[in-house]
Amino acid sequence: MDRVRGRMGDVGVDVLLLSVGADLPWLTGYEAMPLERLTMLVLPRDGEATLVVPRLEAPRVVERPEAFRMRTWDETDDPVAIVAGLVGRGAATAAVGDTTWARFVLDLQAALPATAFRKGSEVTGPLRAVKDAAELDALRAAAAAADRVAAQLQAGEVELAGRTEAEVSRELGRRLLAEGHERVNFAIVAAGPNAASPHHEPGSTVIAAGQVVLCDFGGTFRVGDGPGYCSDITRCVHLGEPPAELAEAYAVLHEAQQAAVAAAAPGTPCEAVDAAARDRIAAAGHGEHFVHRTGHGIGVEEHEDPYLVGGNTAPLTAGNVFSVEPGIYVPGRWGLRLEDIVAATDAGPEPLNRADHALVVLDA
Ligand code: ZN
Ligand code: ZN
Ligand code: ZN
Repeated sequence: MDRVRGRMGDVGVDVLLLSVGADLPWLTGYEAMPLERLTMLVLPRDGEATLVVPRLEAPRVVERPEAFRMRTWDETDDPVAIVAGLVGRGAATAAVGDTTWARFVLDLQAALPATAFRKGSEVTGPLRAVKDAAELDALRAAAAAADRVAAQLQAGEVELAGRTEAEVSRELGRRLLAEGHERVNFAIVAAGPNAASPHHEPGSTVIAAGQVVLCDFGGTFRVGDGPGYCSDITRCVHLGEPPAELAEAYAVLHEAQQAAVAAAAPGTPCEAVDAAARDRIAAAGHGEHFVHRTGHGIGVEEHEDPYLVGGNTAPLTAGNVFSVEPGIYVPGRWGLRLEDIVAATDAGPEPLNRADHALVVLDA
């Protein structure tokens, strides 16, 4: 809260308004229900914070009187008027959480005609991107849990041949929960040519011998009573010996990924980490087959600042945590991706995922 208030001062915001989305749990531990009833934290730069919450949801709030007071509203109350009253006519600039329902933003703008509205991420984005020690520990624990599932996959404990991608996806999800995640966020399973689509939706395709199987999965992992933090890992396995072309492409991918991880130290521009992977893949003739950025920040959300992408000249800072996940995708034939979560620390890049980086060959 102190850091948020300090940044509000730096960027000229009088009041921060947070509703559904990740900013509120990041700041207070409370996650607003994504419903038609308004939940909103009203955080003035100077003055007491108030969580405006529907009465029926108040029992879910863990009260933190040192951080905010609670103001419940009844079914016959007008929550927008309550928030507008707390903001007050003196607020020249409000920052509103990026994923707040438009219906409430529009009503608030009508109720506060003299107040300029800006995006909440202008306040929270740069703060959320720099993890403190407790957040780093939570991300390490999330990554270790995802690593255990990856190791089970690589050990052949997840039956692949003869099952559909959807069945394997559900099993990976169950294993994420068994390893301590509280929620499965996604489990991409893409076999053979399907792996050429980076965000393939696991479906009725039956996995067969001779195929590469790309698995990209992650969930939300909670340590103590703080907000949950996300895991995200990609590993590929091959059912039977891979053809030389695929093995060679994987060797390029592996080297590119390791080069990008090694480059990911504080001070390095985000786009230089992307280039470290991209240049190697391009040099091997696969430039046109690497169709996405190299990585995304991760924290209470799966994708958040900073983004490792061409054009992002911002330097990494200690405390940034992000994915490093180059891929090579040959349409109609096969796809490969290798993804770890990495923290930029004062001691250099710290990979949080340690599962085997090889293209593990499994009996078909
Ligand atoms: Zn993605
Ligand atoms: Zn992923
Ligand atoms: Zn990712």
